[in-house]
Amino acid sequence: MSMALAPAPAEQGCDTEVLRERGQREVFCGLTGIVWLHRKIQDAFFLIVGSRTCAHLMQSAAGVMIFAEPRFATAVIEERDLAGMADANEELDRVAAQVLARRPDIKTLFLVGSCPSEVIKLDLARAAERLNAQHANVRVLNYSGSGIETTFTEGEDTCLEALVPELPEAPADERALLIVGALADVVEDQFVRLFEKLGVGPVRFFPARNSEDLPAVGPGTRYLLAQPFLGRTGALLDGRGAQRIAAPFPMGAEGTQAWLRAAAEAWGVSADHFDSVIAAPRARAEKALERYRETLAGKRVFFFPDSQLEIPLARFLHEELGAELIEVGSPYLHRQHLDCELPRLPSGVQLSEGQHVDSQLDRCRQARPDLTVCGLGLANPLEAEGLATKWAIELVFTPIHGFEQAGDLAELFARPLRRRDVLRLS
Ligand code: SF4
Repeated sequence: MSMALAPAPAEQGCDTEVLRERGQREVFCGLTGIVWLHRKIQDAFFLIVGSRTCAHLMQSAAGVMIFAEPRFATAVIEERDLAGMADANEELDRVAAQVLARRPDIKTLFLVGSCPSEVIKLDLARAAERLNAQHANVRVLNYSGSGIETTFTEGEDTCLEALVPELPEAPADERALLIVGALADVVEDQFVRLFEKLGVGPVRFFPARNSEDLPAVGPGTRYLLAQPFLGRTGALLDGRGAQRIAAPFPMGAEGTQAWLRAAAEAWGVSADHFDSVIAAPRARAEKALERYRETLAGKRVFFFPDSQLEIPLARFLHEELGAELIEVGSPYLHRQHLDCELPRLPSGVQLSEGQHVDSQLDRCRQARPDLTVCGLGLANPLEAEGLATKWAIELVFTPIHGFEQAGDLAELFARPLRRRDVLRLS
């Protein structure tokens, strides 16, 4: 084993049936979540136990998009490990010790499983136990980012799932709001200020910037999901007695307002006070969106399944910018967590869950949408066929939550359409 360091750098309200597809899929694996998780949890290190392919994926995903001190690396499983000629556990212990000696600032070490570590049945839970005994000042946890078990954003879900058992127990009478899902720091700060003005709190964020800052959870905890892909984490929090506040996701002016309102209502904030607190940021969001309506109204949009953000994003495009939705695909539809989103989609939109990429490409080609939101692997061929595309990964790597980011979110969809118009004119 050798180490490769990364370079610095419900039932829906709409009345259509859900098309369930189980075929070849074109989605990143859950390792990709490390790109935003290592930025968010600033004293954590992510050690992928994988192959050179895994290392290359991370290096290209993070190298292109992220400029940060590397706090992830790949412990590369070599042929000797695969052939059983080397003791992979010994090798892993050696690489982990090397990382921790180099980085004394690390407080949590995540061992991240991959397809190769699963194939050779490397028991990372036992490895984490062993390493916890060897390294007293570091918490070692494990989760899977393998493409066999996870798609793209599910890596965050499995990471947070590994952290939930570490959360301390809150006293039964302690009432607090927990925001669940990694948010860009700038967005987190904006929400902190709004919750303070509303009088909702105490508010804690999970994950927090500091991995030792673990929010307590108990029956008095009410949680709001900031991301729609946290099914396992939500189930574990439910198991700890926390109660989810049902809300749409905070994307766009409408989504953000409804998300904040759900928390405000749970805290008994008066409607007048709520309206006065959100008036100014809501007005800024609306103003920012105005200039994109002309570009996006009436545009026919097709979503391939990728990040599980597709339903809230489609709702935003339709509700706030007047786009027409042709098909909205998602790797999974968590009906309970989407209970406030699905009824807001228009009647007649085709929803699909899972993927059969060839069939979906056929439907997309036949529909000839104005804008196709898809993964990197599909974007270039579709562009070559004359379709305007948006890389789904950008919607995950860019801060898009909250009032102040509503315009940036619209811009992400408008840019490929403008580029297409320019290319047509030239
Ligand atoms: S975990 Fe699997 S799918 Fe992901 S990069 Fe490694 S080999 Fe590929």
